[in-house]
Amino acid sequence: MRLVLLGPPGAGKGTQSIVLSKKYNLPHISTGDILREAVKASLPLGVKAKEYMDRGALVPDEVVTGIVADRLLKPDTKNGFILDGFPRTLKQAEDLDKALKKMSSGIDMVLYFATSTAVAIERLTGRRVCTSCGFNYHIKNIPPKKEGVCDMCGAPLFQRPDDNEETVRARLKVYEEQTKPLIDFYMKQGILKRVSGDMGVDELFKVLSKIFSDAKLA
Ligand code: ADP
Repeated sequence: MRLVLLGPPGAGKGTQSIVLSKKYNLPHISTGDILREAVKASLPLGVKAKEYMDRGALVPDEVVTGIVADRLLKPDTKNGFILDGFPRTLKQAEDLDKALKKMSSGIDMVLYFATSTAVAIERLTGRRVCTSCGFNYHIKNIPPKKEGVCDMCGAPLFQRPDDNEETVRARLKVYEEQTKPLIDFYMKQGILKRVSGDMGVDELFKVLSKIFSDAKLA
């Protein structure tokens, strides 16, 4: 099962990736997570990427495509993978197709999480993330038992620097301009499935599981 999750920031791609990755035993490949790890470790890649991420812009294609191409060479991707947040431009999508073709492989399905702007903004600006285990909370929808503290591991929560309203709006604009054309790109390939990203986590997970069993992917 080689999957791409497509949709605006705040659509819930990361959240669904985590549960799908567990259920189907597939590696979750999030370019956002990989870049944030590089920032945290002060790697040269992170120093370069941070400047783009903090203002909600895209990191240059060749940098991100290189990261994904390397990751797809690892043996754990043999039976499939979940790509979350990649590709995000037509160039990335074309280069991904080329890289997979070289391995006699290709994408099986692209799940497009159609999400309203109001929902995305509300989710992102209210999001809080655990500094240690990475669990995601929301100040209203999924509040921790004790404010600012992770229920899972007790570590403090933080707000991602790109989750303030101004940067969220910039990210949504970038999505409209650079990523939305991918809907058409994958529709033409006949592999796009549209779902509503406005649904709750459990409800959407059920919908996705049914899509995979109907398509005989799982
Ligand atoms: P979100 O989808 O909520 O915006 P991500 O964690 O996927 O969050 O990405 C955070 C940031 O990382 C993006 O705003 C961008 O700067 C960078 N990034 C992640 N994936 C890509 C990509 N495929 N191409 C370019 N930049 C990326």
